[in-house]
This record gives sequence, C-alpha cells and structure tokens, in this order.
Amino acid sequence: MDFSLSEEQRAWQLKARKFAQEDILPISLQRDEISDPRETFDWEIIRKGSKLGFRTAAVPKEWGGHGIDLVTQAVVVTELARGDSAISKTFSQCWKWSHLIAASCTDAQKDRFLKPFLADDTYLLSSGTTEPNSGSDNRLPPEDDPKAGIKLRAERKGDVWILNGEKCFIANGSVARLFFISTRTNPSVHAREGTTVFMVPRDTPGFRIGKVFNKRGWRFYQNAELIFENARVPHANLVGEVNGAAKARGGALQFGALELAANALGVCEAAVEMAMQHARTRRQGGKCLSEHQVIQLKLNEMHMLTEALRSFVMRTAWERDRATLGDKTMGDFVNADLVMNYASDVVQRVTGVNMDIHGVERSMMNARVDKLVRDAMIWTHLAGNSVQRIKAVKHLIK
Ligand SMILES: Cc1cc2nc3c(=O)[nH]c(=O)nc-3n(C[C@H](O)[C@H](O)[C@H](O)COP(=O)(O)OP(=O)(O)OC[C@H]3O[C@@H](n4cnc5c(N)ncnc54)[C@H](O)[C@@H]3O)c2cc1C
Repeated sequence: MDFSLSEEQRAWQLKARKFAQEDILPISLQRDEISDPRETFDWEIIRKGSKLGFRTAAVPKEWGGHGIDLVTQAVVVTELARGDSAISKTFSQCWKWSHLIAASCTDAQKDRFLKPFLADDTYLLSSGTTEPNSGSDNRLPPEDDPKAGIKLRAERKGDVWILNGEKCFIANGSVARLFFISTRTNPSVHAREGTTVFMVPRDTPGFRIGKVFNKRGWRFYQNAELIFENARVPHANLVGEVNGAAKARGGALQFGALELAANALGVCEAAVEMAMQHARTRRQGGKCLSEHQVIQLKLNEMHMLTEALRSFVMRTAWERDRATLGDKTMGDFVNADLVMNYASDVVQRVTGVNMDIHGVERSMMNARVDKLVRDAMIWTHLAGNSVQRIKAVKHLIK
C-alpha cells in the first residue's frame, strides 16, 4: 500500500497547517475562556478559513467546490485540529451536509441551496436529529419499541409541511443558515420507516433558535436548541423521499465518523508535541523529564497510540475513496465506525497522559493542557458511548 500523499494532497495539508498555526492557534484559548457560550464563536476565523477553501472543500468540483477526496479531508481536518478541534469541526460539519446536497438533492435544490452556500463565507450548515427524549434511540432504534426515536412531527398541508417540536444539542445550531432536520412523518411505524429529512432555512416562519448549551470542551463549537412552532417548510425542501430519511442521509453519517476520528488525531498530535516539549525542558531529579524512564514509557505510549490512530484513519479514508471509485473489494463502512470508537479512546488517553507529564503545571499554568483534556471528553458523547460501539458490532455480526 502506498501511503504517500499526492502533490495536491500535500498542498492542502500545508495550507491547513499554516492556517492552524498562524490563525487558529492564536485565538484558541482566548475563545475557550469566554464564559458565555454564545460569545465564544468568531466569524472572522470562519471568513478567513472559508476564503482558503476549508468550508467548501467537500463540494464536488462540478458544483463549484474543491471536491477533495476523503484522504485529503482526513489530512486537512487533522491539521486544523492541531490548532483547535472545535474550530476545525465547525468547518468540517459543513462538509458532510454540503456533500449530501451535491449527492442526494435534485438539481433545483442544488441551485437553491448549494449556490448560496458556495457564494457566502458565513453560510454554515447544521443537522438536527437529537431531541430531549431521543438521543441514542435515533442512532440505534430499539426493535421492540416502534414509537421510540424522533418525535418532531411534520404534517403535510398541500405544498407545505408543518413542523412542530424541538431539537437539542445541535451543532452549528446558533450560527447555521441551513438545517437538515429529521422529522417524524409517520408516527405509527418504526422510526426507520417513518422519518423524513427536510432542509430548513434559518428564516423559515415558525422556526427559531433556543438556548446555546454551555459545554466543558469544544467551547467554540455552538450547540443549540432548535424550536419549531407550526414552522412552514415547502415540500420542495424535502431531501429524497417521504419516510426515506435513512436512505437520504446515507453515507453522510459514516463520513462524519471518519471526520471525527481525523479530528481526534489532530488533538493527539498536539498533545504529543506539548508533552515532548515539556519533557525536554522541565528538569526534575537532576535531569530532564525525558531522561526519566517512567516518563519515557509515557511518551512511548502517546506516540504508539497516535501513530496507530493515524494508520487506522488514513487506511479507512483510503478504503472509502477506493469504494467511491467503484472498487467492490472495499466492503462496507464498518471501519468508519470502528475508527471513530478507537479515536474516542485514544484521544482521551493521550490527552490524559499529556496532563500527567505536565505535573502541577497542568492545572495551574497551562490552560492548553487542560483544554485538550476537556475537548477530548466530548468524544464520549459523539463517538465513544456504548451505542456507537454496539452499532459497529451489529454491523460486523449481521
Ligand atoms: C459536541 C456535540 C455535538 C452534537 N451535535 C449534534 C448534532 O449536530 N445533531 C444532533 O442531532 N445531535 C448532536 N449531538 C447529540 C448527540 O448525538 C447525542 O448526545 C447522542 O446521540 C447521545 O444522546 P444523549 O446524549 O441523549 O444520551 P442518551 O441517549 O440519554 O444515553 C445516555 C447513556 O446511555 C447509553 N445508552 C443509551 N441507550 C443505550 C442502549 N440501547 N444500549 C446501551 N447503552 C445505551 C448511552 O451510550 C449513553 O452513555 C451532539 C452532541 C455533542 C456532545
């Protein structure tokens, strides 16, 4: 297997590395320390990153985007996350949904939604599935309870659908212009057969943003409540078919899994770099920390886990690119789920060991060490919970 990057991939990598070092890193801690979760966001960094192509990277070239493949996407996310994984995620959150418009929407919908997305540096995308009473049930709907899962109701009245209900913890929720909303269109059947996705513009009558959640990590990333009170969504905004949410969202979710794993890899790289730097310069017991065997073992573990994660992320991205090109030997998407589960364990372990190596400085003098640990905790809810793991195994044993 050839692990080398093409010239184009290398150019994207260097561009992302420069942006992360020169623009993202300098504002990372400053945004993280703002106590009001609505104020942590910064439009200037979004504009700058958008002009460099990081917002629109995944839109196919024929639709005016950059059309970068999954290997390049993984490389870019990793580099951006070295600066700040929440800022990186704000950009990549747009990738799976803009790609979905390009892959699954009609030409008329592409004209209405993809064109404005491409034209405006501040046009962000978001997707709402989670509700106050349905979180894991949406990811792994219980077979014995057909009514579990999404409750937000959509009812058709002529050419318009009326939406009523609430979504919570929705990423980019307070800043996005377009939302992919999963709704219950048939409450009498299992969620898998009774759910439909609509594209809901921010200015839709009857739709509003509620509170922004205050999080321990990823403070830049906006997670908000979405409230629908007789919201009127045109039938023309339906993605795919009525009751066809599972098919419509298709690979977007699996693609998101890979993107999350690559993001974790960037955090691990940042933690390894910090630990090495500290171990080389901090002297205790008459020598540098890096000369103490116990510290060497910890550094070894950090490197080993990070390199293993890199191999898994890049191989999975490569497999998915091959599958997209029509290689039938690449099997299904299960590695994308597994690599996400693995990334969740690794990012928490590596940032924890980094904190350990920093000693008391970890909590008193080095806010970035602490930030990496808090950011890593976020993966538990995104990728590391039991449901995500059960989902991957169900795939393997089916
Ligand atoms: C940073 C962040 C961004 C997010 N962005 C979005 C977004 O953009 N859009 C969106 O729709 N949602 C988003 N979410 C919500 C996320 O998808 C949910 O948190 C997730 O689905 C879990 O739901 P829950 O938190 O309600 O946990 P619950 O479903 O209440 O589960 C609680 C615990 O019980 C376990 N559990 C639940 N059911 C089972 C079972 N059947 N078997 C075994 N264990 C089980 C879970 O693993 C978990 O540990 C985001 C969350 C975070 C933290």
